[in-house]
Amino acid sequence: MYIPFTERYHYTLLYIAVLSGLLLLLLIAFLIRSLSVERRRKREAQHSLRYEHETLTLAISGSSTYVWRLEGEGIICDPHFYDLIRHPRERITLDEIIHFLHPDDRERFYRGYRASENVHTHKGHYRFDFTGGGYEWWELRYSTLPATVSGGKYIITGLLQNIQDVKDHEEELIQARRLAERAELKQSFLNNMSHEIRTPLNAIAGFANLLVYDPELSETEKREYAGIIDTNTKLLLKLVDDVLQLSRMETANMSFDLRRESVRHLLEAVYRTHSVLIKPPLEFIADFPAEDAFVHADRMRLTQVVTNFLNNAGKFTSEGHIRLGYVRLPATREVSIYVEDTGIGIPQEEREMIFARFYKRSEFSQGVGLGLPICKVIVERLGGRIEVKSQVGRGSRFTVVLPCVE
Ligand code: ADP
Repeated sequence: MYIPFTERYHYTLLYIAVLSGLLLLLLIAFLIRSLSVERRRKREAQHSLRYEHETLTLAISGSSTYVWRLEGEGIICDPHFYDLIRHPRERITLDEIIHFLHPDDRERFYRGYRASENVHTHKGHYRFDFTGGGYEWWELRYSTLPATVSGGKYIITGLLQNIQDVKDHEEELIQARRLAERAELKQSFLNNMSHEIRTPLNAIAGFANLLVYDPELSETEKREYAGIIDTNTKLLLKLVDDVLQLSRMETANMSFDLRRESVRHLLEAVYRTHSVLIKPPLEFIADFPAEDAFVHADRMRLTQVVTNFLNNAGKFTSEGHIRLGYVRLPATREVSIYVEDTGIGIPQEEREMIFARFYKRSEFSQGVGLGLPICKVIVERLGGRIEVKSQVGRGSRFTVVLPCVE
């Protein structure tokens, strides 16, 4: 009963002490292990982060691509970007970036930036001069992280990539396509030309041969063949003349003598010439209002356009009338000069085509199909336009609309 407690429970206490020691050792071992596991996990995470960063840097370093992030007023950029623009490695403001942007692109850039609050992704091409070596094309892509996701702050993050090479390549392709189109145009022009030249030349050669080698031709036949040769020679001369005129006008090699002209006087002169050429049963009507209109034009060239309209009207109208007139259009301060006929008309789908070179509806119609293309070039150089209204079987109306001068 009087045995001391420590002696009485000597073994029990020893047992507890050993157990506690063991437990402590186990706890320490467990803590050390979890610490080392945690450390290893952290090292691995850091390693993989570094690896990802390095591969990303490697991937974008060769392509002049820079990562950036806009928070509030400041932009945090890829360190290489700071080196490129020779800026200390610290935040840069949006205004400082705008300073590098081409003035013509600023409005578009701001429009995209203002919309970024609602539109969460953006892609645009802008011209920047970051190095002072001239403007180059850059692609700006970014996404907006809403304040709710980015912890209360409104963040825009994205990539800036130099795409000058792509743009250069694009330009080369456009040039190549233009060259190919021009070559094609040239080829079709040459095909048309050789066709248009061959037809009258064959007629001239054929009838000249008949005249020389056929002794039995009557005087009437000889006159008729000589007439055919003459008509075809004129046709050839007109073709050469038209082609030269069109080419000179298109290369702006033809000077226009622009003066203030009275439309009424000009049309009266044209009417006088054509009233001899347009014969009954066709009626030739002049429709000139009392009030004159004035235009800034080359008299000879404008006369050429109206004459071409009248010649065409004569060619394609066998009965009814041809009307020449003008109307003032005070609302737009323009005047419209028109030639109206009651001829065969032009189908809707051909209204555009008649202004193409060498276009003729019928292979057998007179002319080579260069009259209207020449008219179009002249009228455009006079600052006007040509309008066509037509109904098949009922007639056509060709109008030149020109700005009026006081
Ligand atoms: P061209 O120089 O041979 O006269 P244009 O270029 O003046 O040729 O006209 C081209 C074609 O437009 C004509 O062949 C004809 O088919 C059509 N055209 C032009 N004017 C008229 C018209 N007043 N009525 C019907 N067709 C017309």
